[in-house]
Amino acid sequence: MIGDFSGMENDIERVLVDEEVILKRLDVMAKEVRKDFPGEVLVVVVLLKGALVFASDLLRRVPRMLEIECVNVASYHGGTESSGVVNFLDHKLPDVKGRKVLLLDDILDTGRTLRAVVDRLYQEGATEVKTGVLLAKDKERAAAVEADYVGFFIADEFVVGYGLDYQGRYRNLPYVGVLKPEAQ
Ligand code: 5GP
Repeated sequence: MIGDFSGMENDIERVLVDEEVILKRLDVMAKEVRKDFPGEVLVVVVLLKGALVFASDLLRRVPRMLEIECVNVASYHGGTESSGVVNFLDHKLPDVKGRKVLLLDDILDTGRTLRAVVDRLYQEGATEVKTGVLLAKDKERAAAVEADYVGFFIADEFVVGYGLDYQGRYRNLPYVGVLKPEAQ
């Protein structure tokens, strides 16, 4: 790990997935993506802001011609519970008509976000949408969806780091951890 994260680390109860383990898993996920999409130029849709760190580490392991697009969605409003409503914050979505798409998000929880974005991408004319998440909570989903590529299945608890935030903070922690209750 680079530098001193002590300001943030004091708020972490325990590390759930450390950086080295994440990066090793990304090597394997990247191989699966390469195998599943041989040759074609893939459109990768990265959901902001949570998937920023995951996508940048994963995609640098995929030596293919990719078109990387970002889509801004929000389902949390600063707390630790999803609002249940998925808001598209962009006026226009990337052009995916006739294209194969890899959609990346940080974590699969209720499933509402992935379900809404996958449906939207098909409405916009994508021919195939595969989904990848760094984390998937081991629970029943409110919306019918599972990801094609999952880094790690975790218990149903609120996590931060490696792109995931609490009130905009902790995204740059290089690992995934659980916040101390007093930091929430
Ligand atoms: P879903 O729509 O599947 O319920 O939730 C997806 C979104 O909720 C994720 O993209 C992420 O932004 C947020 N989310 C769900 N669980 C967690 C969590 O444990 N920690 C953080 N920081 N965000 C979460």
